[in-house]
Amino acid sequence: MLREMTADLHIHTCLSPCATLDMTPRRIARIARSRNLEMIAITDHNSAENVAATQRAAAGDTVCVLAGMEITSAEEAHIVALFPTLEAAESMQALVYARLLPGENDEELFGLQVVANEFDEVEDQPRRLLSTATTLEIGELVAEVHARGGLAIAAHIDRQGFSLVGQLGFIPPDAGLDALEISPRTDLTAGRARFPEYADYPMLPASDAHDLDEIGLHPVRLRLGAPSFEELQMALRAREGRGVVAPGVG
Ligand SMILES: [Zn+2]
Ligand SMILES: [Zn+2]
Repeated sequence: MLREMTADLHIHTCLSPCATLDMTPRRIARIARSRNLEMIAITDHNSAENVAATQRAAAGDTVCVLAGMEITSAEEAHIVALFPTLEAAESMQALVYARLLPGENDEELFGLQVVANEFDEVEDQPRRLLSTATTLEIGELVAEVHARGGLAIAAHIDRQGFSLVGQLGFIPPDAGLDALEISPRTDLTAGRARFPEYADYPMLPASDAHDLDEIGLHPVRLRLGAPSFEELQMALRAREGRGVVAPGVG
């Protein structure tokens, strides 16, 4: 049976240098539950190293934690990639690490990058700067995500900085993107009105949370059979009654 549920599919952890250190796996899982989110995605910059810990922190809970990553393309556009399994995300992470531009994290300038376990203990602090660009151009990036069974979503297209619309001026029609995301600056009705040329794409609000306060701030309502990657994929393809719930409908 289908029902409506609330999800936030773009959340950073303390691994992203720009996120606060409060964004630990256990706290994120707890806050997501307290805000009645049934599905979240962990999407750190160019890394999935805090996904497993967040999934373990939410184990036995009502929150489904999707494995994801916010990948910076060669055009310096952010793409939220969501994967059916942790292994698929880790396979993509290996490619992203191989194609990430070299650079060391300057903690004073960018912030700490912390890999934590499900008890919020520090496991590692990667030296390389994660928030830089890769050499993956948009078409190749999306193809590599799809080759791993994943979904590729153009992040925060209503923002100038690090969005495809901001960098290129448009969404490349042949890139094969699965959906477009709008930031908390724009509600879904306004997003649809602002981008009529992209009416064929599903449009997803997301918080892009970098702090605990922001988790679930700009959620997406989905009609699904259950909170899962497979159901989300069906929703983005509008299959068998699944879909993104339009404002004021349903
Ligand atoms: Zn971004
Ligand atoms: Zn982000």
